[in-house]
Amino acid sequence: MSRRFGGGRLVIASHNTGKVREIGQLLVPFGAEVISAGDLGLGEPDETEDSFSGNARIKAHAAARSSGLPALSDDSGLSVAALGGEPGVRTADWAETESGRDFRLGMERVWAALGEAGARAPFAAHFTCALCLAWPDGEDAVFAGEVHGTLVWPPRGEKGFGYDPMFLPDGEEETFGEMEPERKHAMSHRARAFAALVAGCFGG
Ligand code: IMP
Repeated sequence: MSRRFGGGRLVIASHNTGKVREIGQLLVPFGAEVISAGDLGLGEPDETEDSFSGNARIKAHAAARSSGLPALSDDSGLSVAALGGEPGVRTADWAETESGRDFRLGMERVWAALGEAGARAPFAAHFTCALCLAWPDGEDAVFAGEVHGTLVWPPRGEKGFGYDPMFLPDGEEETFGEMEPERKHAMSHRARAFAALVAGCFGG
């Protein structure tokens, strides 16, 4: 049985505005007063683990410790079957440039890697999301979710964020970049991890 979140302020342990927005929307029904790590001026710890749940724990514990508030982190990424699971926990790094992250470039790198690997369609891939809710006293709970699909080229759609425009969920005709956010939120890796978090920690 996981410890329950009792309401009040909750730090979103992320500097990624797309994630902070999505998590904020998912938490609206639970009366959490959401603040982001960026708003509090908290630093970004190094993500040194090789699993999504390990890196989620690093981020949530760092934010909970330095803010004195419960903190929720999200570590997520895209795993491509023909690339042996890459970029995986390094998904954000693949979009890195000297002037910040450029996800169009990240998508181009994934597409180029598929070409170099001689991969053929359909390009199976999945998103994973690990959520960690950590308390300032060091207790935590971790929940994970996945969504499976294929990669398309060229990328389609301006909605969503990150690698959404090249990800076509199984059974759908629109990429995550084309879908209305409500539809993405009903099926995404983050939504699935969230359902587990809510059942475990928010009394839902
Ligand atoms: P993290 O901050 O290390 O967890 O990086 C996660 C990476 O995966 C970022 O580059 C995100 O853009 C990407 N990512 C995670 N979730 C999604 C999603 O729902 N859609 C598109 N890209 C995502």
